[in-house]
Amino acid sequence: MSDKMRIKLDRTLCDGFGICAKHAPEYFSLDDWGYAVLVGDGNIPEQDRDAVMRALLDCPVHAIMEINAHGPGEAPPPPPPTNEDPAEQLKVEDNEAEWGFTR
Ligand code: SF4
Repeated sequence: MSDKMRIKLDRTLCDGFGICAKHAPEYFSLDDWGYAVLVGDGNIPEQDRDAVMRALLDCPVHAIMEINAHGPGEAPPPPPPTNEDPAEQLKVEDNEAEWGFTR
């Protein structure tokens, strides 16, 4: 994989099982109540990806999420610009046969 791994932690979901801190203690610590705290900015270097992915997959409440270029938390890329006039796409009586209007 060439994409950089980036994660985020939703602390509102965390139930404090501590599995993440066990698998990847460099990236997850536990606060005084046992709830997870993300250590660092969420960017995961290649060499730590497996440990963090294991923490992500083992979290029983799915509080750890991977953020990809097209994944949750980030907007998808805008559609490519077209030179077509949107008015040409309208379904009107003139192109009724093309669109298969039913009345
Ligand atoms: S594994 Fe999930 S529920 Fe457990 S401490 Fe980590 S984030 Fe919280």
